[in-house]
Amino acid sequence: MPVMMNSQSGIRYNSYGRFLKGKFGCRVYKVSVDGGFSCPNRDGTISAGGCTYCNNDAFNPSYCQPAKSVSQQIEEGIIFHKWRYSEARSYLAYFQAYSNTYATVDKLRILYEEALSYPGVIGLIVGTRPDCIDEEKLKYLKVLSEKYYLAVEYGIESCYNKTLKRINRGHTFEDAVMAVEKSAAYGINTGAHFIFGLPGETREEMFDQADIISGLALKTVKFHQLQIIKGTRMEKDFLEHPEDFELFSWEEYLNFFIRFLERLNPSIVVERFTGEAPLRFLTGTGWGKKRADQIVNLIEKRLEELDTWQGRLY
Ligand code: SF4
Repeated sequence: MPVMMNSQSGIRYNSYGRFLKGKFGCRVYKVSVDGGFSCPNRDGTISAGGCTYCNNDAFNPSYCQPAKSVSQQIEEGIIFHKWRYSEARSYLAYFQAYSNTYATVDKLRILYEEALSYPGVIGLIVGTRPDCIDEEKLKYLKVLSEKYYLAVEYGIESCYNKTLKRINRGHTFEDAVMAVEKSAAYGINTGAHFIFGLPGETREEMFDQADIISGLALKTVKFHQLQIIKGTRMEKDFLEHPEDFELFSWEEYLNFFIRFLERLNPSIVVERFTGEAPLRFLTGTGWGKKRADQIVNLIEKRLEELDTWQGRLY
C-alpha cells in the first residue's frame, strides 16, 4: 500500500527505514563489502582521473578491505552492528566501493552469491555506474531478485550534462536514464545517488531536479550535499575557482531540502538526506561535528513546524 504523507498521517517523507520494515517486518542493517572492483572512469577505459570528487576511502568503513574475503568482511560488519544494536539479526550486503557490476557475470556470481550465503544476509545492494550494466547482467540480477531482496544503485549525481562533464563523470544524464529504465523494466529495485552543490549549478537548477528525478523509474534515492574531499581534483578546482562553488551551510541546506522534498514524487523512498565524510577527509570544516542523524532530526522537525511533507507540491 502506498504511504500516505500528510498532516493527518503524521508521515512526512517516504523513509527508507519504514520501507525496509514494511518489506521485512523487522529492522534490517547494511554491511558494506568491498569486492575489489575497479571503475572504468579510473582504470583508463573511460578516463584515468575518475570523477573529480572521488575518494572512496572517505566513506568506506574500515572493516571493508578487498584483501579480506567477502565472508570475512560481512562477519566483521555484523560484529560491528551487533556491538551497536544488540537486536540486529538481518542484513543487506552493500557492495559499495567503486563500480560493483564492472566485471563478468561469472565474477559477479561468485562474489554476490558468497555474500548471499552468509547467515543473516537477506539481500544485496549493488552500487554502480550507469554505463556498467548490460542485458546479460540485468538478466542475472533479475534471477537473483526473484529469490532475494536486490537493489541496484546508480551514481547519477546531477541531471545536467554540463555538470557531469565538469566533474568528469564520463557518462551523460541520458545514459543514466536508460540504465534506470532498463533496470526497472527487469523488475529490479532501482536507486540513484545525487549531489547538491556541484560547481556551476545554480540553486534553482538544483531545485528543478526534483521534477526530473520525480519522473524517473526510481524506487529509492540518496542525496548528498557536496563536500570537498582533500587530495581530489575537485579540491584543486575549488581552490582555483571558488566563485563556481556555492557550498551549502547546514541551515541553507535544511531550507533547500524541505523545498526540494515538497516537489519530489512521494512514491520515491528517500534513503539519505546528507552525506557524512569524516572531518579528517574534508577541505575546510564542512558542517563541523553535525552528524547526518542530527540533520535528519532537524529536517523532520522543520517539516512538522511548516506542516509540510514530501510531494506536497508534486
Ligand atoms: S564512478 Fe565512482 S568509483 Fe568511479 S571515479 Fe566516479 S566516484 Fe569514483
